[in-house]
Amino acid sequence: MNKGALVYDYLIVGAGWFGAVTAYELTKKGKRCLVIDKRSHIGGNSYTENVDDINVHKYGAHIFHTNDREVWEYVNQFADFNRYTNSPVADYHGEIYNLPFNMNTFHALWSVTTPVEAKAKIESQRMRITEPQNLEEMALSLVGTDIYEKLIKGYTEKQWGRKCSELPAFIIKRLPLRFTYDNNYFNDRYQGIPIGGYTQLFEKLLDGVEVKLNTQYKHDEFGAKKVIYSGAIDEYFDYRYGSLEYRSLQFENETLDIENYQGNAVVNYTSSEVPYIRIIEHKHFEFGKQEKTVITREFPKEWQKGEEPFYTVNDNKNTEKYKQYVDLANSEKNVIFGGRLGSYRYYDMWQVIKEALKTVEKEIGGENNE
Ligand code: UDP
Repeated sequence: MNKGALVYDYLIVGAGWFGAVTAYELTKKGKRCLVIDKRSHIGGNSYTENVDDINVHKYGAHIFHTNDREVWEYVNQFADFNRYTNSPVADYHGEIYNLPFNMNTFHALWSVTTPVEAKAKIESQRMRITEPQNLEEMALSLVGTDIYEKLIKGYTEKQWGRKCSELPAFIIKRLPLRFTYDNNYFNDRYQGIPIGGYTQLFEKLLDGVEVKLNTQYKHDEFGAKKVIYSGAIDEYFDYRYGSLEYRSLQFENETLDIENYQGNAVVNYTSSEVPYIRIIEHKHFEFGKQEKTVITREFPKEWQKGEEPFYTVNDNKNTEKYKQYVDLANSEKNVIFGGRLGSYRYYDMWQVIKEALKTVEKEIGGENNE
């Protein structure tokens, strides 16, 4: 590449949260950015598509939640958020339980009515382990056998395609345990869905930024001083140390001629016999009253090269391999890696936004100090 022909300050690979937020911020600072994405749309996995007047979360449920006021105020600049509160229910062989594990769940499981009774029940089943080594041990020591068998084991093993005894314990920490009648899945202070879907929010972030869709990243193809890369870090380095592991998902969408299919946006199927992990009914994210409804079944599957990676598998083996890639990344002077795939982390949306804002701050701050 002829360095004299560098047109862009930044080539940003990926039009998801990391790419769109860095593009917005850098453009605001007067930098010339080009955003490319291999998909035919912006928004990454948060992309929503309007089907029969319903905003369909094309890559699975995306419920915005954060405890971080800065991030919450940030996203609210680009959309109005509704008061949606995630309160999924679990279906285990036709038995319905509220999530996260709370007094409603305990009552349905054991007919207990007070926190003291619920705690005593859990205490009688709890495994006593001081340092849980894996997800199974962590779950059994936190909630005991009934909840583990009915609501965790099948779901988790389907989602990750691995035994709970082979998964890292931190995954389960995402799921709170509560002794109040509170079905709010998240503990965060702020939560909601952008009214009208996520895509318009990304359109605002990328307003005035040059975007090329259906464009695969190839090293050195576009003249840019720096690259911001939110694709998979192992793919960037042509899998030099072998590929990291990911979980993928397959979605089956259906439009039904009924008004209300399951009465909730998210129903988890926690038994190992049902092949999908959940059914999403999209209209409920925005309290829709349309005559029809769109539902999506989510089937987890192992990722293979060429497929969409959705979840990173942050076990010891992959963590070690990722460190090798980080060493390579550190020697790649003009490339910044970020986002769920670039950082190989089980990030939520707000964490990616935070990471993107910090990245830009460092970039611009560094420049000011030069
Ligand atoms: N989980 C579970 N049962 C459920 C829902 C979640 O055991 O009904 C556990 C499971 O280990 C899962 C983790 O909690 O991997 C996080 O699940 P969540 O659905 O919150 O993750 P997401 O796919 O939305 O990132």
